[in-house]
Amino acid sequence: MSIQFGPEYVRAIAPYQAGKPISEVAREFGLDEASIVKLASNENPLGMPESAKQAMLAEMKEIGRYPDANGFQLKAAVSEKYGVPQDWITLGNGSNDILEIAAHAFVQPNQSVVYAEYSFAVYALATQAVGARAIVVPAKDFGHDLQAMTKAIQPDTRLVFIANPNNPTGTFLPAAELEAFLKQVPPNVVVVLDEAYNEYLDPSLQYDSIAWVRQYPNLLVSRTMSKAYGLAGLRVGFGIAQPQLTDLLNRIRQPFNVNSLAQAAAVAALNDTAFLRKSAELNRSGYRQLTRAFEVMGLEYVPSFGNFVLVRVGQDDGAGARVNLALLKQGIIVRPVGAYGLPQWLRISIGLPEENEAFLAALKRTLG
Ligand SMILES: *Cc1c(COP(=O)(O)O)cnc(C)c1O
Repeated sequence: MSIQFGPEYVRAIAPYQAGKPISEVAREFGLDEASIVKLASNENPLGMPESAKQAMLAEMKEIGRYPDANGFQLKAAVSEKYGVPQDWITLGNGSNDILEIAAHAFVQPNQSVVYAEYSFAVYALATQAVGARAIVVPAKDFGHDLQAMTKAIQPDTRLVFIANPNNPTGTFLPAAELEAFLKQVPPNVVVVLDEAYNEYLDPSLQYDSIAWVRQYPNLLVSRTMSKAYGLAGLRVGFGIAQPQLTDLLNRIRQPFNVNSLAQAAAVAALNDTAFLRKSAELNRSGYRQLTRAFEVMGLEYVPSFGNFVLVRVGQDDGAGARVNLALLKQGIIVRPVGAYGLPQWLRISIGLPEENEAFLAALKRTLG
């Protein structure tokens, strides 16, 4: 018998399927890179803010040195924006890093982690990477069923992941439901509230999750600079929790997990409210553009609170993969979600008006 390396739980991990890079699609399908439209990874179609670019350029001369391991300036910016002390903040190499650090810090092998069906793929990966047992709670209307999630918590559960808005379905949990849930979770179970798309929420739906952090010592709120802030390639995110959790997260965190260019850009972007407003407005009009077209085409979609829409492109389980391939051949990259258990659906990131139009034209050609 051949040698097997690594623990069984590592060998069981299904690798994350990222959105295809533009260069790869150009090579595979013999297309010109400039003609390709990528609506696959929920990036900001405006790219990075100019303020962040200038901050990075200024930081370049220091690149021979290690970054600030404590991220003083960035934590100061987060502290100012959210009104929490610096020892409540954990910086991450993307918020993906925060999710993984949380699993390492709070869960040991054979304990359990609770998350919802059709929620972010990284919850499963982070759970498996520490040899923990996943308790996947069936979705309700494509979103989290918080009552069922409360019931699913076991004596050995140490962590619950919740995405609000959720990816890949775009569903949203109102503040009152979340608050009722937090009240019921046992105090020894850490809740990670992953708010990667918070900046896209209509002001009428915004809620103060940081007030809950003050109230609940077992709550960790996670935020990213990759989506509305336009810094996906730099990898920056952060977590906010009371010092007891934050202290443990920082023991697991790599000392230099956020590079110096990323730190500088994130400070600038956090303070660039004009860019954020413009991004949210562009997203709202793009959402209307896509969903109106889906309605005209008679395609079912899940109402979304993020910068993407889940749309049903057929009634058979080959539909997502088939339509995805047809779109790729036309230079349109979207995200198939068969691995999430949604083989009849595709997730479309909202792009610039002309990108949305190119996608819709290709979709119409494909579906006839
Ligand atoms: C995109 C995303 C993240 C991670 O983004 P990073 O680039 O790692 O910060 C986290 N959670 C959800 C739900 C996401 O969709």
